[in-house]
Amino acid sequence: MSELNKNRIQNIIVVGGGTAGWISAAILARSTEHLACAITVVESPNIPTVGVGESTIPTFLDLLDYLKISKQDFVKKTDATFKLGIKFVDWLDEKHSYWHPFGSVGSKIDGVPFYHHWLKSKFHGCPSEFVDFSPSIALAKINRFLAPARKSDSILSESTYALHIDSAKTAKYLENYCKKKRVRHVYADVIDATLSPGGMIERLFLSSGEHLSADLFIDCTGQAGLLIDKYLRVKYIDWSNYLPADQAVVVHTEQAAEIPPYTQATALEHGWMWKIPLRNRAGNGYVYSSQYCDADQALTALRGKLDGAEISEARTLNFSTGKRKSFWVKNCVAVGLSGGFLEPLESTGIYLAMRSMLNLVENFPSAFYEQSLIDEYNRVMHIEYDCIRDFIVAHYCLSNRQDSEFWRSWKEREIPESLRIKLDIFSANGQLYKNPMDLFSEESWWAVLEGMGLRPRHYLPNVDSSDYYKIIDSMKRGSIALKESAKMAPTHEAFLQKLIG
Ligand SMILES: Cc1cc2nc3c(=O)[nH]c(=O)nc-3n(C[C@H](O)[C@H](O)[C@H](O)COP(=O)(O)OP(=O)(O)OC[C@H]3O[C@@H](n4cnc5c(N)ncnc54)[C@H](O)[C@@H]3O)c2cc1C
Repeated sequence: MSELNKNRIQNIIVVGGGTAGWISAAILARSTEHLACAITVVESPNIPTVGVGESTIPTFLDLLDYLKISKQDFVKKTDATFKLGIKFVDWLDEKHSYWHPFGSVGSKIDGVPFYHHWLKSKFHGCPSEFVDFSPSIALAKINRFLAPARKSDSILSESTYALHIDSAKTAKYLENYCKKKRVRHVYADVIDATLSPGGMIERLFLSSGEHLSADLFIDCTGQAGLLIDKYLRVKYIDWSNYLPADQAVVVHTEQAAEIPPYTQATALEHGWMWKIPLRNRAGNGYVYSSQYCDADQALTALRGKLDGAEISEARTLNFSTGKRKSFWVKNCVAVGLSGGFLEPLESTGIYLAMRSMLNLVENFPSAFYEQSLIDEYNRVMHIEYDCIRDFIVAHYCLSNRQDSEFWRSWKEREIPESLRIKLDIFSANGQLYKNPMDLFSEESWWAVLEGMGLRPRHYLPNVDSSDYYKIIDSMKRGSIALKESAKMAPTHEAFLQKLIG
């Protein structure tokens, strides 16, 4: 073996066979396919996966591209449907709804983002909504779908989409992918681990009697955080002061004939509920704070809002919102729920697992575990978590709802300083001071802040150098053209039928 290869990581163990475990193994298998690197997934036959995580964001398609997985094949085998954004119902007030679109909303005019021109039009009394200029929402509102064609000159080609996925089928799909790439799959509980004198994980002891060693360990054991917590003793930073929801009741129902191409998030008395449409069923869950409501109450409230007949046992899940103080320590990287969790309002759990692994691939160490790479990895992951946290808190803290202790608590609740500064600046003139690494685009922030009723006090003066009447005219024509083009697109069901045959 050459000197160079001797210092390479040759053996990786992923502990956990949930979505994070299989995403991790798939990314590792793909990124090391030309290297002699052994990858093993150890999955407990006794500890179930969380089995939720069914609404994704557009980066999920980047994952499929990275893995060279055909989208058509994936959609077919996982009962997936398309998602153009999220419809938020009753968040600002009861009987009010708004959209968080994927993709662009309008385009820059004279070098200034569309939002600022649109904002000026609101000061002049124009009736249009910000999302009237979103191709994705033009389609979503009338249950239509069209995959944007790169070379098309259609006005809808700027739409962007993600998928709703069956989590069990997705894990199975990725498991099969990994097996084709020679990933070893071991069904056993990890019952103990030993550390080297330097604090590196050395060996795992399995319930089967086998013991396994590796250079690198990926902890995907869910909220247990078996390696990162029990053996490496890395603290969990609790964010329940910012985001108090800590439980969810979930149940599957029959899917109605019409499949919406969006996730619906409806605010309820003590939290909110999701509706995620799949081809074989719908996923429903009520995310709430156990401080204000118990599982029985939550289930009764959820049942009152279901559209179809229940087809699964109801389950209660506990979670704690927060993140690890470090995600990567020594030779162990915590990915998925073991690294942290932000409640599922913006469907970011799967994204974070994928981002964790791609970040690892970018900062892949030699067997010397260069601290500079570990530090950079952790720096990036902290920014990811912090930015997503701020975006989620913004959905709650701007609400006008006062109908329960849960909603009233937001008036006194502390919000992160980074969010407070962002909201203050935005309130002045609509500018967004975002970390360039923030997952959510300016359009996402503008759509949610406008949806939550936060309108800046002034518009940016530099939009006054553009020809206002020409802009108003093109805005009117643009939103009509979007609506008309959307009507020509196939229904979501028709599109799915044609795709899967
Ligand atoms: C209520 C809720 C709703 C969510 N909704 C969304 C959503 O819409 N979109 C989204 O992107 N994300 C969502 N998420 C997050 C998403 O579900 C998770 O990010 C994703 O499922 C990854 O989970 P995981 O693999 O880390 O953990 P788990 O699914 O808990 O898997 C843990 C794995 O570790 C194994 N394991 C545990 N201990 C041992 C041991 N000692 N030995 C061997 N194996 C062990 C278990 O058997 C299991 O295979 C949601 C999460 C919750 C809680």
